[in-house]
Amino acid sequence: MKRVVKSNRLRGNAMSSLIQGGIVIIGGGQAGGWAAKTLREENYQGTISVISDENYDFYERPPLSKAILTQDNATLSRIFSEDDTHSLQLNWFRPVRARKIDTTNKSITLSDGRTLAFEKLLIATGGRPRYLSDAWRQHPRVFSLRSWDDAQSLRSGLLSAKKIAIIGGGWIGLEVAASARKMGIEVTVFERQSRLCERSVPQNVSEALALRHQNAGVELITDAGDIQIGEDPLSLQIACQQRTMQRFDLAVMGIGVELNLELAKEAGLEVTHGIVINEHGQTSHPDIYAAGDVACHPTLSLCLQSWAYAQNQAITTAKAMLNPQSPGFNEPAWLWSDQYQDNIQILGIPSPQAIQHIQRRTTDSEVHFALNEANQLVQMVAFNDARAIKLGKRWLQNQRKLIPSELADPTFSLMSLK
Ligand code: NAP
Repeated sequence: MKRVVKSNRLRGNAMSSLIQGGIVIIGGGQAGGWAAKTLREENYQGTISVISDENYDFYERPPLSKAILTQDNATLSRIFSEDDTHSLQLNWFRPVRARKIDTTNKSITLSDGRTLAFEKLLIATGGRPRYLSDAWRQHPRVFSLRSWDDAQSLRSGLLSAKKIAIIGGGWIGLEVAASARKMGIEVTVFERQSRLCERSVPQNVSEALALRHQNAGVELITDAGDIQIGEDPLSLQIACQQRTMQRFDLAVMGIGVELNLELAKEAGLEVTHGIVINEHGQTSHPDIYAAGDVACHPTLSLCLQSWAYAQNQAITTAKAMLNPQSPGFNEPAWLWSDQYQDNIQILGIPSPQAIQHIQRRTTDSEVHFALNEANQLVQMVAFNDARAIKLGKRWLQNQRKLIPSELADPTFSLMSLK
């Protein structure tokens, strides 16, 4: 039987002016949305309050760097339909920010002065785009891309742009580069590392990504060093170690995010590079949980910041908030990206244990395997081969020993290794 958390009760006069929030979720993103949906699916009938600094229902972020930029009249990329969202019967607090968590009285102060009591709390506050400096942040021709509103502004900027700069050759940068090329815009990517997506993929995959972008006409500047912006707010000028000042119509920041960890830190929760959680998403406070970008993966000890992690770890956590006996989260890292004609899927994270790199190419797919000394899979990146990734998930789980020559042979059926 599922244990259903009963709705909050007033605790004496001192608390009587509080709004009773029941289970409170801070953050209206992917993790917050899936947590709310799961709580209802698991039959939680008490109050669910969602605090969000955006005035929209839960929406998908992956389309923001793709269809939302390239298509006319795009509508909000909702995670759940309007009717489904309505049927969750959520108590929205938006647009408003949570300012402070009081862990002793179990309440949250909101930016509009109200105070919300919680029975249990989920922190799913995500992150905000990082800028190289205030000069970049304040320049009217420099854009970032995190929210629906950001995507709308960037889209209108791109519509009149001929030549753009992208700062950072990571996932945002490459997806925006592909979208901009689709719109016929000249693109230059400035990356300070010697290769693209250095933190998430091995060298051979960085090279495969670079080749695709170069073939599509993107100018890639790696080892860019210090990237500088000119002082004139009316004209955007950018230079780097290898290039003198050049004019661009706009620039997009894609140098990673700052995680929104301030609330958790000030509340005294254990925070390292993210909020420390167990396999049930529980933080160092027994009634406070964390999900999504801000929540350190319970076994990998890093903040994954991927769509799949935000969704699936939030689902696990919401179940555990109602039933501590429910299974814990133990999924491997998995992320995907669509660029040009390619669907790119990445399973696992780079590791020093990956000592063998094997490539398998067919006419329309390319799979890169990284194996450890014992011929077990450590990481796998597939261009246009989702089935191989599905198999890889099983191999990782079973720690299956693989034969490199079979993996490399395009005539050998991977399905026979089910
Ligand atoms: P990202 O993927 O971490 O890439 C940022 C890139 O910018 C890295 O290569 C980074 O290099 C580089 N960089 C950092 N500082 C720089 C500097 N001063 N000058 C030049 N380059 C610099 O971050 P993102 O592309 O901004 O995306 C934000 C988050 O959203 C990430 O967590 C990303 O994984 C996620 N996201 C995921 C998807 C997807 O799953 N398809 C799509 C978009 C975004 P260093 O390694 O040196 O820092």
